[in-house]
Amino acid sequence: MEVTTLKNSDLAKDPVIGQMSLHNHEQILFCNDNATGLKAIIAIHNTVLGPSLGGTRMWNYANEMEALHDVLRLSRGMTYKSSVAGLNLGGGKAVIIGDAKKIKNEALLRRFGKFVDSLGGKYITAEDVAMTSRDMEIIKMETDYVSGLPENMGGSGDPSPVTAYGVYVSMKASAKETWGSDSLSAKKVLVQGIGHVGEVLVDHLTKEGAKVYINDISQERLKAVSDKYKAEVVAADKMFDLDIDIYAPCALGATVNDDTLSKLKCKIICGAANNQLADEKVHGALVAKKGILYAPDFVVNAGGIINVFYELEGYNRERALSHAEKIYDTTFNLFQLAKQENILTYQAANKLGEQRIEAIARINAVL
Ligand code: NAD
Repeated sequence: MEVTTLKNSDLAKDPVIGQMSLHNHEQILFCNDNATGLKAIIAIHNTVLGPSLGGTRMWNYANEMEALHDVLRLSRGMTYKSSVAGLNLGGGKAVIIGDAKKIKNEALLRRFGKFVDSLGGKYITAEDVAMTSRDMEIIKMETDYVSGLPENMGGSGDPSPVTAYGVYVSMKASAKETWGSDSLSAKKVLVQGIGHVGEVLVDHLTKEGAKVYINDISQERLKAVSDKYKAEVVAADKMFDLDIDIYAPCALGATVNDDTLSKLKCKIICGAANNQLADEKVHGALVAKKGILYAPDFVVNAGGIINVFYELEGYNRERALSHAEKIYDTTFNLFQLAKQENILTYQAANKLGEQRIEAIARINAVL
């Protein structure tokens, strides 16, 4: 994808379209409504493959530039995620500026829904940080371009089982690359974060005979999951000292950092959390140097977007799961590409995403 090289001085002069041109974003809609207090930005990165889809995040940003920067970064990430997952979706994202606990209400959400509708389907929204499926129901009153609705509204419901299945098959592909067999039997796996995705992953791993360690900040979750699956609880200050085969971050981002990498003893990192590498360039390289295979997060956790995509098609969980199964091949293929081209695994994932978009853009130009 075309990338221009603007200098910081150019960005100071042209902070909006200048920033869009850095990664070739197509369109931004700035939304303001004094009556409801709505201040939002909808960013559309790329629609070559289809309408842009990505969640709406509500966050108390320190200033508008921080919000703009976030929505541009997140929308671009969605382009790559959907492309690599083989979906006919482009990348988009929205941010609503403000404290959800203080200003989120029906009127604000419906006003936001009208702005989404004004784009005529070029952007489809969904849940993200501080937004719930109930909020999606409210937005739906004003626009049809909403996904991630509850099952009782014809939606796809909780995407976590599909996401967890994608993580599981991606882990198997990583095992095949590392040990020549995709069996996870007897492998020692640390699952950090045993929420919606983490618990279902523990279920898959236990059924396959892996030795599972779990960590979470919720004592309640730890008790429930260790009782149910006989997984071993490990304290936060001990978990990175464990002698394990696979680390599965399923809680927060940026857990692969200088501190954890100085201790981590594993062969594979593969989990559901977004933005696992604290600094993509630095820690992507450091992981490889330590002989750890990193399965890129946005490839591994694509089950969530796959689930939402099938909601747009008339939801069927079997189809969503069967598409998520392809994450096995995608993961394995990107490892081969990384080896062939002597690049890092996250770079190979980006390359796969770009190649598909460029190929489809070419056939669109011919037709
Ligand atoms: P969740 O909120 O249900 O679970 C997260 C779990 O992590 C909770 O049990 C929480 O107590 C625990 N946690 C929080 N901070 C922690 C810490 N510092 N140390 C250990 N545990 C901690 O979330 P989820 O839906 O299971 O998603 C997990 C991760 O995967 C998130 O980063 C999410 O963005 C990402 N993800 C989820 C989906 C999905 O379909 N749910 C899709 C793509 C990506």
